[in-house]
Amino acid sequence: DVRVRFAPSPTGRLHLGSLRTALFNYLFARKHGGAFILRIEDTDRSRLVPGCAEKFEETLGTFGLKRDESPMVGGAFGPYTQSERGAIYAQHSERLLDSGHCYRCFCSSERLDILRKGALRAGELPRYDNRCRSVSKAESDERARNGEAFVVRFKFDKQNVAFHDLVYGSNNQIADEGDFVVMKSDGFPTYHFANVVDDRLMAISHVIRGAEWLASTPKHVKLYEAFEWTPPNFVHLPLITRDGKKKLSKRDADAYVAYYIEERGYLPVAVLNFLLRNGSGISGFQPGNLYSLDELIQRFDVNLIGTRDFMMDRSALDTYGRLAFRSTHRETLLQNVAKHLKTHASADIDPALLEPAYIQRVIDFISSNEENFAAFDELVTGDFSFFFGRPSSAAKLLERFDATTALTICDALLELERFDIAGVKAVAKQLKMKPKEVMAATRCALIDSFKGPPLSELFGFFSDDECRTRIQFLKE
Ligand code: GLU
Repeated sequence: DVRVRFAPSPTGRLHLGSLRTALFNYLFARKHGGAFILRIEDTDRSRLVPGCAEKFEETLGTFGLKRDESPMVGGAFGPYTQSERGAIYAQHSERLLDSGHCYRCFCSSERLDILRKGALRAGELPRYDNRCRSVSKAESDERARNGEAFVVRFKFDKQNVAFHDLVYGSNNQIADEGDFVVMKSDGFPTYHFANVVDDRLMAISHVIRGAEWLASTPKHVKLYEAFEWTPPNFVHLPLITRDGKKKLSKRDADAYVAYYIEERGYLPVAVLNFLLRNGSGISGFQPGNLYSLDELIQRFDVNLIGTRDFMMDRSALDTYGRLAFRSTHRETLLQNVAKHLKTHASADIDPALLEPAYIQRVIDFISSNEENFAAFDELVTGDFSFFFGRPSSAAKLLERFDATTALTICDALLELERFDIAGVKAVAKQLKMKPKEVMAATRCALIDSFKGPPLSELFGFFSDDECRTRIQFLKE
């Protein structure tokens, strides 16, 4: 049975790379009729951010990556939050202590610090010198009984650490850190230990995760060996880079999922396609084609995942954004736009402009003009922001017309009974100006731009009153 898990640590905002990992897990699970599990790895108590596990689960939903088992929906292999599985880890570390694969280490943090600093000074990787391996069982039990603080370490033998990865092939890189910790002094397991125990107890068949974990996998393989368990299959995914080399920095806003959805307002399906834009894992992939989640599942083939790192390309994202706008149901589009405006429109916006009926008119207008937006943000700060805000200054108009001319044109326009092309032409005639010039001025007075939809269309969209309000505003 195929069972895969997405296992984020709730340490803040969800990283774009994590979403990509979740996507590959999901596609693989659905393709093979298996289960997609969300597990929260929160054993590093110092980096915990409250509330973000729930937020991650919600975000998966936003992208349509439906989990079959998770902290919220439960399942037969729970609990799915590691901090609730303390007894399980304690019992399993006991087991390895008993079998002699693990031992208690009583070294003080001062001693470990000296070792670490010494190594760094010598230009070497810090490595534990395995000193407490030689503490006898009797002495170890005695010291533990007396309440001395300890960690549990695993006797790591770096011979025969090779394992097979479905993407990277045979692998044996390992950073030699000496015997590594499985249980910390606070009684919580380390990532490595909890990860292995849970993958086993949750019957995970394939571990699909970012390539940054390749170097940890030998540790995991050795843990499986010590427990006499068959390891799962490993599938490591190439990293996301900016340009093929540079990794996404944690400081960059666009390294996080929230930037795409909440901040800029791309449709989720656009972001998912963006994350697969190099075609990795997708059979018959055609660049620039927008695939639905169902189509991606049909086409997914784990054997087609390549080892080349993924490159960000914002123009590809915009292409998918536009395609997604075209292919999304009106209803869905309306809901998404409304939600985006609610949080991003300026505080003093006329509430009438947030009415669904008005938003729908805007969307219809944009579609019928063969125009398109990549992200909803363009309705708030971009080319289409004039629908939800009036020009805030006459600066644009004054770039092209001197103040007297601008004012004369505005005055003449305000005399019009109806706003239409014939009216604007009449104004041109009256002022002895070229119609083209007056049209440009009118457009700019209405939408604060010399570009955009045809003027006749704008007149069709805005009521005469609205036209008057906008022009009146500029006069003042
Ligand atoms: N908790 C790890 C992370 O945050 C999970 C890695 C894995 O999938 O094994 O990426």
